[in-house]
Amino acid sequence: MTEKKELNTRGAQLDFVCVESGCGGVVKFNLMELNQSDFQAMCPKCHRPYAFDASLKEKFLKLQSLILALRDAEPILGDCNVAVTVPAGEVKIPYALLLTRLNTMITLNLGEKKVDFHIWIEPTSSDTFR
Ligand SMILES: [Zn+2]
Repeated sequence: MTEKKELNTRGAQLDFVCVESGCGGVVKFNLMELNQSDFQAMCPKCHRPYAFDASLKEKFLKLQSLILALRDAEPILGDCNVAVTVPAGEVKIPYALLLTRLNTMITLNLGEKKVDFHIWIEPTSSDTFR
């Protein structure tokens, strides 16, 4: 790994539970490294290698675009809120909080199985989530 990595390669970690029955290992990979030729994800427990087919890769790349767009919007994220109406009135939830405190996940087919991929998004600036 070189020092001069692009800024946007940081923090878009995905993980999912290994599909091997009875394994339960958590496979982790960095979404931003998906297009590298030597990309490979492997279960840390049973060492099952995971290769993603073209259609799955395409979905991951769309997810990558979404995350990059979010990152691009970071300067205004602090000003964005999701409003929820409750009996006492309206509650504003900072958008940034939604992204960091709630688990974002994408459910995709991996072979024959539906797999939940958890996404861990890290802001590029620690100021975003003050
Ligand atoms: Zn495994």
